[in-house]
Amino acid sequence: MPPEIESRPTLYGSRAVEALYRLTTLIGEARELDQILRPGLEEVVRLFGAEAGVVRLLEPESGLLRLHAGVGLTPTLQAALAPAVRPGETPSGVAGRRRSVVVLDEKEPEATGSPWIAEGYRSFITAPMQHRKMLLGTLTLASRDPGQYEDADRELFTVLAQQLAMAVANAELHTAAQRKIADLSALHQCGRDLGPAPDLPATFTLVAERTALLLGLRRSAVFSMDAAAGELHLEAVHGDSGAHSWPLRFSPSEALTGALREPHPILTDDPVRDQLLPPAPAARPGASLFIPLRLRSEWVGLLMGDCAGEPFHLTADQMELATIFANQASVWIANARLFTAAEEARKAAQRARRDFERLLESAGDGILVVDGDGRITLANREAQRLFGYAADELLGRPVEMLLPPRLRGGHEVDRGRYLEAPQLRPMGTGRELLAARRDGTEFPVEISLSPIPTEEGTRVISIVRDITEHRKAEERFRALLEAAPDAMIVVDRSGRISLVNSQVEQLFGYTREELLGEAIEILIPERYRAAHPSRREEYHREPRLRPMGSGLELFARRKDGTEFPVEISLSPIQSEEGTSVISTIRDVTAQKEAQRALARQASDLRRSNAELEQFAYVASHDLQEPLRMVASYTQLLARRYRGKLDQDADEFIEFTVDGVKRMQELINDLLAYSRVGTHGREFAPVDCNRILERVLDNLQVAIEEREAEISVQPLPEVRGDASQLLQLFQNLVGNAIKFQKPGERPRVEVAAASEEEGWHFTVRDNGIGIEPEYAERIFLIFQRLHSRSDFPGTGIGLAICKKIVERHGGGIWVESSGSGSAFHFTIPAHPEAEAT
Ligand code: ADP
Repeated sequence: MPPEIESRPTLYGSRAVEALYRLTTLIGEARELDQILRPGLEEVVRLFGAEAGVVRLLEPESGLLRLHAGVGLTPTLQAALAPAVRPGETPSGVAGRRRSVVVLDEKEPEATGSPWIAEGYRSFITAPMQHRKMLLGTLTLASRDPGQYEDADRELFTVLAQQLAMAVANAELHTAAQRKIADLSALHQCGRDLGPAPDLPATFTLVAERTALLLGLRRSAVFSMDAAAGELHLEAVHGDSGAHSWPLRFSPSEALTGALREPHPILTDDPVRDQLLPPAPAARPGASLFIPLRLRSEWVGLLMGDCAGEPFHLTADQMELATIFANQASVWIANARLFTAAEEARKAAQRARRDFERLLESAGDGILVVDGDGRITLANREAQRLFGYAADELLGRPVEMLLPPRLRGGHEVDRGRYLEAPQLRPMGTGRELLAARRDGTEFPVEISLSPIPTEEGTRVISIVRDITEHRKAEERFRALLEAAPDAMIVVDRSGRISLVNSQVEQLFGYTREELLGEAIEILIPERYRAAHPSRREEYHREPRLRPMGSGLELFARRKDGTEFPVEISLSPIQSEEGTSVISTIRDVTAQKEAQRALARQASDLRRSNAELEQFAYVASHDLQEPLRMVASYTQLLARRYRGKLDQDADEFIEFTVDGVKRMQELINDLLAYSRVGTHGREFAPVDCNRILERVLDNLQVAIEEREAEISVQPLPEVRGDASQLLQLFQNLVGNAIKFQKPGERPRVEVAAASEEEGWHFTVRDNGIGIEPEYAERIFLIFQRLHSRSDFPGTGIGLAICKKIVERHGGGIWVESSGSGSAFHFTIPAHPEAEAT
């Protein structure tokens, strides 16, 4: 056994002084409780030569003493001592209640049943560890020898316990300080984590997360206050929600508002919590934490912690921390709000600017922005192209650089005047100007101006359009107009004359200058003027090409007031100024005159024809009677005196009889001819197939005699006079059979084809044909090409055919190639009226 342990230590003994010195150093150096307690206890155990020693510390919440350090304990004893004890219980707890050093042995009541005794310990010394009169714990030594500790040890042991208590207090202070530093730096870190561009959702999420982290909560939520609606809105949650659900939005109860009037957190259990929260779907046992988020005494939100189902406690420090954190969080949220709003505003401005630039660049026109001093502040790409400058050559320079030098002075004056009363001046209303390119070449432009007020004063957006092409086109158009044979007038949307050619000047007797800008009605007779604008409007509603000869009787008026008939065509043209109308005007005086003359002639002709027909009819009718008498007496003469007079007489009688017969035929033919016009029937539908059947019937003898082969294609139904059509077909088919080469067998074909106007009939044969020079003649009355001995006939057949066809509104002609003829005729589908 070492000498120092043999002798009992005393307060002023060198060993005790050394031990105290070491303890003090330990206290000074060590930081954490564990770094102090165990070495301190070891020092004490060594000084007293004890077999075992323990330090218990008081838990403020429970008021129990819990084992914190042990020296020389077997694992069994360690385990047996682990449960916390009340002050006064067991040897190590006694000092806790008595607040003074206690020396005791196994017989004392506190020792009875203690685990120490079970392990064979017999005597104990225990002292309270107090700091500033506050009990922090107990220090206890134990020995297996009975009566090991004496009253003499009390003094030194008290000092040692006090030293250890001071060490514990120091360590706790240190730990608290550490924690505060940690909390503050966590707060600081939190602010840093938000970064320089906090967005609102991220801020809410971070706040929820850090609330839980800082305060050791399992679940947390952030609500923001919607002041307008008086509602709290759930913004972010942290932690496992499980069966628990946060209200998405709720109006804070009066109780909650009242409870959170001060910017301090409140931690409540049921049922107070349930008064503060809206009714929840599931009951939540446990405590809830409410921390108001305030900004300049305004309630901007709420942090909520939920500690359902777990024992929960917040120290005063944590409460304070929560308050500080909530203040910070309020600021962060407000910042993020501001930042988000600013960011949105910035983006909107950026978008607007981009849109503007895109618009500017996509414009087909040159666009310049000019400031109050006439300096160019912006020029789009088209403007640069138009004038041949790069952007930086234009910016900041006077806009006059874009004008020919001789016009610059005047422009400056104009510009000044414009700025005195700036207003929108649309394209086309301004004067046409000349602009100059970088290389000095000039070109015509049209310019629109619109002022925009800015912080730096009025700026003017000017849209510049190169109208060189426009001009050229206009000139080409003018030249075209001049070259036209008719008078042409361009009338704009409002009915004003915008262009005329020289033919208009000649026709109307006005000069160009007198007409331009005038209403078109100046060229219309007074009596039609009032109605004209509404008709013009009507045309404009549906403008389309209206050709000449639309059937309207139109009149125009010269400068001298005289009128003349005109035909007018209208055609709309699209231009930048809207729809204009080109009207072409033709003087139809001569045409009308000719028409009238023609009509007169036609009616004269009709009249004389009718008279002639009437005369022919009357004449032939009247001639028939005496002729019949001449014929009957000649025949009588022939019958009675043939062979009774001489041979000459017989011959003369023969001639007379022949001549009278012929005369009768001619007169009958003439009568038949004149009847076509005077005795025609009304038109009705006629089936030509039926007609042809009857024709073939009538011609049966001739057909059989000549062994003619007649083919008839299917024929249409037409409107007409059935008996005349019968006559028509019969004459043609009859001729086709009759005018046949000797020894040949006639082949006749009748066909019809539909045409636009009606029907086209053909009667074709393989006969002798007709020389082209006679093609017209054969249709004249009594015109024949052959002697009666070759082919019988009077030459009236085709004349009648022609008359019938013409009465039906059609035409008839012949085509002949030498080997056969083809007679064609047409019958219109809808013969207008019976032609007379
Ligand atoms: P006609 O038959 O009484 O002579 P038309 O008026 O029918 O009188 O005919 C006039 C003339 O036209 C005929 O004399 C004949 O010379 C000629 N002609 C008419 N039809 C035919 C035909 N199918 N082929 C050849 N010549 C024809």
